[in-house]
Amino acid sequence: MNREEEELRRRSRESEQRYLALVETAKDGVAILQSEKTVFVNRAMADILGYTVEELQDRPYREYLMLDERTTSPKRYGGLLEDRPGYTREIKVQRKDGTACDLEISGAVIQHEDQPAILVIARDVTERKRVEEELRGAKEAAEAANRAKDEFLANMGHELRTPLSGIIGMTSLLQHTETTPQQRKYVRTVSRSARALLTIINDLLDFSSIEAGRMSIEPVPFDLKFAVDDVVQVLSARAMEKKLELSVHYSLDAPRRVIGDAGRIRQVLTNLVDNAIKFTNEGHVLVTVECEEKTRDQARIKLSVEDTGIGIPESTLDRIFDKFTRVDTSPTRRHGGTGLGLAISKQLVELMSGSMEVHSHPGDGSAFWFVLSLPVQSDIGVALLEDRPTYSRVLVAEDNNVNQEVAATILRKLGCDVEVAGDGRQAVEMTGDNPYDLIFMDCQMPIMDGFEATEEIRRRERISGHHAKIVAMTAHTAKEDRDRCLEAGMDDYIGKPVTYEDFRALLQRLRP
Ligand code: ADP
Repeated sequence: MNREEEELRRRSRESEQRYLALVETAKDGVAILQSEKTVFVNRAMADILGYTVEELQDRPYREYLMLDERTTSPKRYGGLLEDRPGYTREIKVQRKDGTACDLEISGAVIQHEDQPAILVIARDVTERKRVEEELRGAKEAAEAANRAKDEFLANMGHELRTPLSGIIGMTSLLQHTETTPQQRKYVRTVSRSARALLTIINDLLDFSSIEAGRMSIEPVPFDLKFAVDDVVQVLSARAMEKKLELSVHYSLDAPRRVIGDAGRIRQVLTNLVDNAIKFTNEGHVLVTVECEEKTRDQARIKLSVEDTGIGIPESTLDRIFDKFTRVDTSPTRRHGGTGLGLAISKQLVELMSGSMEVHSHPGDGSAFWFVLSLPVQSDIGVALLEDRPTYSRVLVAEDNNVNQEVAATILRKLGCDVEVAGDGRQAVEMTGDNPYDLIFMDCQMPIMDGFEATEEIRRRERISGHHAKIVAMTAHTAKEDRDRCLEAGMDDYIGKPVTYEDFRALLQRLRP
């Protein structure tokens, strides 16, 4: 043997020893299989499967690598060893003592004594899988608990809002009847208290939806100026009581017909104007709508609410959008509130891809503003929207007597010719030979609910060719609930409790 050959052998021996040491100390199981036989296993592989190395050496692998047939298909046996290099798969096997074991294995084709063989690397992932399983279980339990909480909140919200609907609706009616000045004062107080309660309930429900990531934004075409004017008009009585001047400046270059979530934009604006009135004792509250940037089909619009009120101390200003923040936290604080309004408003604006900011100084008043980029529509036809609604034949399908009366009376005041059905079946029968222009449909009614009734009416219309606008009246205004209304064939929805202002805005919106 010449020196060169000797050197080669030495190197080869060294390399082999290195590999052997590597394989023997490895924590992963290593085996070489050739013609179904185990030509090599390391200690780790034997340990994982609960055998000794000697027990496995030279044995056909099918004898000890027992697939757990409850979880791993036996058909996969063949495939086990045909994997592409680098491909990893998980299998469940049984150890010598019969216990189950999760293996993550990968294989590669190698040469062993000049013949093709398969190198298998196996890692025991039983513990990891157990922890994963446990975590999954815990996560599922937490999710179920969370769902139960959400459901509970939604149901509670419904239970709380239903009687409140009656109170608010009836007070809204009472305000349009002849009353003595003293009675008017009482009615105003009832109305204000009921609305305050409704705001709190809505805030809590909104807040929990946002926290649960269930709040969605639904853009629709609407008239922004109309919405802003309407918010201000609804709050004008409160401003008047405090002798505050409440006005709107709608910049001429700001578009009117935009596409956005009208309801949420109104909600944010209402909250800001409401706060401004609440925290201002003299002077004015000014709502400004300006256009910061406009292209042919998109506009960046800034809506600000400025007041001459008490202002906000600097120490609170950077926490003002945090939940539960209130400046006056004394037990005798003069202004109520949950401290959620601004947190919700800011989050809603951010959900609409906008931003909200504040500028304030104690004694110098406050300015809150939010900026939204909204698609714009052509302004043609806006003038028409200003007109009074012209609906004539209206059907109200509602099982609750109080709600029936509230809805019917308000609609009559708005110039509609109203008839009432007490459940879905009756509504379907009444539409039979008597086409209505507009149908207000309570969703939950006995005998036949609003969804079924709508589907039935739509089925009949396919024959008659008539199309009545159907509007859901629902306390559930989550997106899924509204989608369900639209799916059933309704055109629109109105959130309960319904008020004069809501009906008026809706009729204007639906005007043919
Ligand atoms: P709340 O429901 O308590 O009014 P908000 O989140 O709407 O909750 O407001 C949080 C706090 O921010 C209020 O309690 C008040 O202290 C302060 N605040 C909000 N708007 C104004 C304002 N325009 N002027 C002065 N303080 C304000």
